[in-house]
Amino acid sequence: MSHIKNIAVLGATGSIGSQALDIIRRAPDRYAVSALAAGSNVQALAQAAIECRPRLAVIADESKHAELAAALRPYGIETAAGAEALEAAAAMPEVDTVLTATVGYSGLAPTIAAIKAGKDIALANKETLVVAGELVNGLLAHSPSRIYPVDSEHSAIDQCLQGEDISSVRRLVITASGGPFRTWTAEQMARATVDDALHHPNWHMGAKITIDSATMLNKAFEIIEAHWLFGMRPDQITAVVHPQSIIHSMVEFVDGAMKAQLGVPDMRLPIAYALGERTRIDYDLPRLTLEQLSELTFAEPDLERFPCLGLAYRALEQKGNTACVINAANEVAVAALLRRQIKYADIYRVIYATLERAQRVESPTYDDYVQSNAEARAIAAEYISSHQSH
Ligand code: NDP
Ligand code: MG
Repeated sequence: MSHIKNIAVLGATGSIGSQALDIIRRAPDRYAVSALAAGSNVQALAQAAIECRPRLAVIADESKHAELAAALRPYGIETAAGAEALEAAAAMPEVDTVLTATVGYSGLAPTIAAIKAGKDIALANKETLVVAGELVNGLLAHSPSRIYPVDSEHSAIDQCLQGEDISSVRRLVITASGGPFRTWTAEQMARATVDDALHHPNWHMGAKITIDSATMLNKAFEIIEAHWLFGMRPDQITAVVHPQSIIHSMVEFVDGAMKAQLGVPDMRLPIAYALGERTRIDYDLPRLTLEQLSELTFAEPDLERFPCLGLAYRALEQKGNTACVINAANEVAVAALLRRQIKYADIYRVIYATLERAQRVESPTYDDYVQSNAEARAIAAEYISSHQSH
């Protein structure tokens, strides 16, 4: 590869963003950073920019722009602020690939901007496809852009599908660690605190996805993500609890053969595979030992204790804006849990109540998604404040 690939890293200060910068720094002959973006953490963004020397650094929180500009002026790094500046960064002429690693709904608009500008996407922000998978696929159909999944399960499926005919796939099996409450009783879960929920057994991730893993809504989102990425019907996508997080997912073919991708739980592997457009490069990352394979276990998920998981199938059956509403209600609920305003067990109640009240839209346009997201957030916030008894 002679051409150095220019990357825009959106969400550069987060768990995925910083691991992506680690991979990029290990391969200066392959990658350069054109733009970095973050939400509000100016210091971490400035530090990353000083190390990676992008042309542009963007902070979503406009009140932090002056501080960012002052920090980066001596280095000749341009700065910008606001949600629209993220879209502009994603569409910059010199950018080849946009790594979308912001959290939540904020990933949608820059991803659409990147696709409209013909950029390739290394997609970590699963909420983009959860909220608006149909719309995004429609845009991709008329664009040279390609999506490379970063989510470990989808990277695993992508790896298993190489060299295969998609019509020979019988089903996708998405593995789930089961999160911190895998072995808890329903009574224990009813009393779970935010700190219990933040204690993920296998992965160190941002707070929001860690809570989503504890409710298993993350797995529901991954089922929806797989539907849009691989074109499988909902009944062809199943989740299985695999507490060791060694098998990252599996594909079963029509002849009964199953392929799985295995590795240590380290997001840098799927990040590197996505940035490298499916090439395999030795970054000297931790390796699996055969002893780690001596105990691989699988169990069916418990939908009674993890009702959020079942929301995947409700969303895929109802289509329209249902998943957008679920995502918005969840973002509000998770933020309230992190502020210790509600309990872990309230998250499902907030989502359920919001789904009951939000307006249904059959074939949403982009503007409908914007409106539906805002409406669902308002309903969820209202529900939380009116049910505050503790
Ligand atoms: P983090 O919370 O660690 O990082 C989020 C990043 O997004 C930060 O850089 C943050 O900036 C930035 N950000 C937050 N809000 C905004 C906004 N409104 N506009 C622009 N930037 C914003 O999250 P993760 O890295 O854990 O997750 C990122 C995405 O990747 C999520 O969609 C998640 O589901 C997905 N993912 C993560 C995995 C993981 O292992 N962490 C695995 C698979 C998928 P700041 O620091 O300034 O707040
Ligand atoms: Mg995942």
